[in-house]
This record gives sequence, structure tokens and C-alpha cells, in this order.
Amino acid sequence: MRILPVLAAFSLSATALVAPSPALAGAPTLGPTATGYGGAVATVDPTATAVGIDVLRRGGNAVDAALAAAATLGVTEPFSAGIGGGGFFVYYDARKRTVSTIDGRESGPATMRENHFIDPADGLPYDFPEARVSGLSVGTPGTLATWDTAARKWGTRSLASLLQPAARVADRGFTVDATFRQQVADNAAAFGQFASTSDIYLPGGAPPAVGTTLRNPDLADTYRLIARKGIGVFYNGPVGADIVRTVQNPPVDPTPIGTWAYPIRPGTLTTADLRNYRVRTPDPTRSDFRGLTVYGMSTPSSGGVAVSEALNILERAKVTPQNALHYYLESSALAFADRNRYVGANTAEPVLRKLVSDSWAAQRACQISPTRALTKPVPPGDINASGCTPATVGGPTEQGMSTTNLTVADKWGNVVEYTFTIEQTGGNAMVVPGRGFLLNNELTDFNFTNTQAPAADPNLPGPNKRPRSSMSPTIVVKDGKPFLALGSPGGATIITTVLQILVNRLVLGQSLPAAMAAPRASQRNSAGIQAEPAFRTAYGPALTALGHTFAADVPELGAATAIELTPRGGFIASSEPTRRGGGAAAVVHPTR
Ligand code: GLU
Repeated sequence: MRILPVLAAFSLSATALVAPSPALAGAPTLGPTATGYGGAVATVDPTATAVGIDVLRRGGNAVDAALAAAATLGVTEPFSAGIGGGGFFVYYDARKRTVSTIDGRESGPATMRENHFIDPADGLPYDFPEARVSGLSVGTPGTLATWDTAARKWGTRSLASLLQPAARVADRGFTVDATFRQQVADNAAAFGQFASTSDIYLPGGAPPAVGTTLRNPDLADTYRLIARKGIGVFYNGPVGADIVRTVQNPPVDPTPIGTWAYPIRPGTLTTADLRNYRVRTPDPTRSDFRGLTVYGMSTPSSGGVAVSEALNILERAKVTPQNALHYYLESSALAFADRNRYVGANTAEPVLRKLVSDSWAAQRACQISPTRALTKPVPPGDINASGCTPATVGGPTEQGMSTTNLTVADKWGNVVEYTFTIEQTGGNAMVVPGRGFLLNNELTDFNFTNTQAPAADPNLPGPNKRPRSSMSPTIVVKDGKPFLALGSPGGATIITTVLQILVNRLVLGQSLPAAMAAPRASQRNSAGIQAEPAFRTAYGPALTALGHTFAADVPELGAATAIELTPRGGFIASSEPTRRGGGAAAVVHPTR
């Protein structure tokens, strides 16, 4: 659990607006679960959750609250998300009864080619850390354009006003907790190469101590500049010029803190790339599961397609509480094989539609045996065939560790599910000098070389292309009304975490907080399942008897947030009890 009490969070945010909301000023420390009425917010961070609740309490809607909370996460969770990155925003509009999305994914430079991450000196792909901590990894950030679009389309407050609480938090500072300190410690060598980064995050040359206050006045100024002048200062103005300068000429400190084993290479992003950036508003993915309608994020994220495909397979294979975990692992391996083969930013619509169709689910589900695990990796299905016919070879797995997710619902029934990121924890490690935010390394989500040979790889770099994501903001609708919204960070494990929570809730019948807290495992079509120790202890023997194999344990998977809307107008807001230090959920009124 984060240590900041809600009272302190409120005195931070509220001064930026008018006065603290009396009912919440006396509320206890925010916990991982909250139930009640009037609207709800779940994020990984108590300050961001408190800011979001404050907006709802003052009459703002779910979009207003989500944007204010997101801007605050850019301050308090700067290594996971911020205006230097991108993400995917999914919105249920209660009045129209529709689900819409914003694709604010970073895009590569116009000059990017397939060999973007190949070292010209030896023709080999760069090592990951070399690609990450470079200008090459930086895509045009889409986060600010997402916020601006969401505020204009669906909000009731100006983005300028919604940036104020976050600016105030950045100015006054927030309390460093153990998770924050550890994230800096893990990145100390990379952060130490850039004075613009180490000046903020390595005070006195070392990670900040737990309990100290961390301020970021440059970021406060950047937020206020954007509030005054609009997002043009970013996409076609001085902030953008500073981004491009940082990418093209990384601000390497002549007297770095610590050593970095790789050359720090420049990138080619230009001011024209920033000027030409546009969010997209693709239709959500849509699938049916046991009478519910599941909406997710379409390409360039693979999340919606993969979650939908896996749910379709589960339904087709007649998943039950007894076989749920075995079938969960099998369906996600099959969905990952198909995602790796077919899904990228430029995948044709008919292919995407086929992957989420019932006929495709039938073609894939028939391969699952109730008594014997498939040998992994499984091959992708043949998109041109019908019937139970596997194609050629399998594919790789990736796992990231960064990103953040938030869920907001308001008293009118509008719901926001938003996952956003700067890719790795700490992004590309470069704070834009004088501007206070880290740049993303999102372009390393491209495959550096073809992973699907002799078939084509849908996720190779290309001009202006957006890298494939796994982010899976998901909204489940029941009888025409939102029932459940959820999402998580965790690189490619996002897909399995979202799927597993859905299986826990919808198949195993667990309560939402139990479904969130349950131990997790991730089968991304590799020989061994990645699992949290508690999962392997509880289910390992039974699953191993079916032929599943486990890779080395991982300490934790995901850092999800979710909200369930109950039939009588209530909310169950849920975040992690312990993963990534625990999250923060809150409702506007604990009682009706
Ligand atoms: N960049 C990853 C993606 O878009 C997310 C990173 C993470 O969550 O670790 O899928």
C-alpha cells in the first residue's frame, strides 16, 4: 500500500481548484478496494486517485476525472507514463450507449525503415538496452493529443483546468515510496548518463530516500505552458523542438553518474513528425462471451484481438470452473500464436475480423484437449483454411515491466478505461532538458528482425508506423449497460492478466477484488508458463499432471485496476492489494 494518506493528497490537489471536498477530507487512507456510489476511480497511486475523485465530486464526468488523474500519474508515476509516451483510451458513453476508442500510440519517424534497429556496422540487431537508451527508440508521443481529443469530444472541463491539480502536485512534491525508489535504483545507470534526468531523480547522485518529498517544477511549468497555450506548444512549438533536439542529440552528461556499457545513439525524429502526428479513433474490438459484450482496443494494439480470440475459444471449448485454468492457459497460447503471426499496425480489417470470429474460435478450440496440454509453442492457425488445421511455426514472447492503467466511472454511467505508457520503466531514460518529462522507448516494441520467417512479420518497423502493443483496456457490457472495466500494465503479459481476471470473475465466479488478488500465470505460447510463486504452489501439481510446464517463477505479473458497476447503481472499485506496492481505489460516496 502506498503511504500517502488521502488527506495529504487532497490538500495537494484541492488548492489548485477551490477548497478540499469536506466529505473526503476526513476519509481514511485509500485502500485497494472501495465500494459505494456516485462514481469511482481506481489507479495505482493514491494521489492520482484522490485527484480523480475530487473532479467527480465537483461534478466532472468520468473523462474529466480520468484526464486529471492521468496527468497526475505523469508526475507521481513518471517512469510508467506521461506526456512523453502514448496509450489507448476506451470510453463508454452512457447517453449514446456506445464504446469509442482513441489510439494515442507513438508513431515512428517518416524516415523509419525495416532495418531501424540493425547496427549498420555489423548487420546485427542492437542489444535491447542499446536500442532502448537512444534516440532511435523514441516515437512521437501521443498522450497529450489523446487527452486533448478526449477532453474535446467527451469532457465537460477544459484540458487546461484538468492539468492544474497535477501541476500543483509537481510543484509541491509528493512522497517517495519504496516502489518509486526501487524503480529509480533499477534505472540508476541509465538515468545517470543524463543530467536532465539525474538532477530530478538522483538527488545527490543516488535514488531518493523513501519518505522524502520529490518535486518536479519543470514538469509543473510544462503542464502550465500547455494549459495556457494549448497542445500546439508540444506538437508544433518549443516543447516539441526540445523533444526533437533531445532525440537527435541525446543530452549525454560529460560527467555521468555511473557507467553505461553502450554507445548512446541519436534518432531521426523530426519536428515534421511531431507536427503530422494525429490520434486515430478506430472502432473497438467486440466479442460476445456468455451473453456479455466485450469491447477492447484494436490495432496497433493486439490486446483487443487477443483477449477476444481467447474468450471466443474458451466459450467454444465449453470452459467450466473445473477446467478453467487449463483452458485459460491453452486459449492464451493459441491466441498469442495468432497475434504474433497476424497482428500489427497495418493488419487488414478482414484479417482482424476473422481472428475475432466464432468460426476462427472453432478452428482453434478444436485443438484443445481436456486431458492433455498442447506442446508449446503452438503454431498459428492458417487464416486461409477452415477446419482444425494448424500452420507452420510458433513465435516469440515479450515481457515489459512499465506502463500504468486507470479506471473511472461516473454517476451517469460513463466509463473510462485507459492504459498508457512510456514502454520500459523509465522509458528511454532521457528527461527532455528543462521540460521535466521522460521520453518513451516505444519503438522497441517493434520486432527488430523477422520473428515469423519464412512468413512475414506484421510488426517490423516502417515509415510512420506504430509499434504493436499488448495494452488491453477492456469494457464489458451486460444488457446494454457497462458491467466491468479493467486493464493492466505488464508488456505482453497485459493480455494474459486481463484475460485471467475475466476468467476469474466470469467463469470462476470470484468477486472482483478476489479476481484481482488471485495469483497469476501467463502462457504466451512458450515452452514454460510464467507464474507467480503462489500460483505454481496452488495449481502447479494439477497443471503439470496435464502436461503443462512452468518456467522460472516471476515475483509478480501486472498492476491492474478495475471497476464493476452493480445493478443498483453501485460501484466496486478495485486495484492491486500488493503488486507494485499496491494500488488505490475510491468511490465518491461510501453509502447511498
Ligand atoms: N510497451 C508495451 C505495450 O505497449 C507496454 C509496456 C509494459 O506494460 O511494460 O504493449
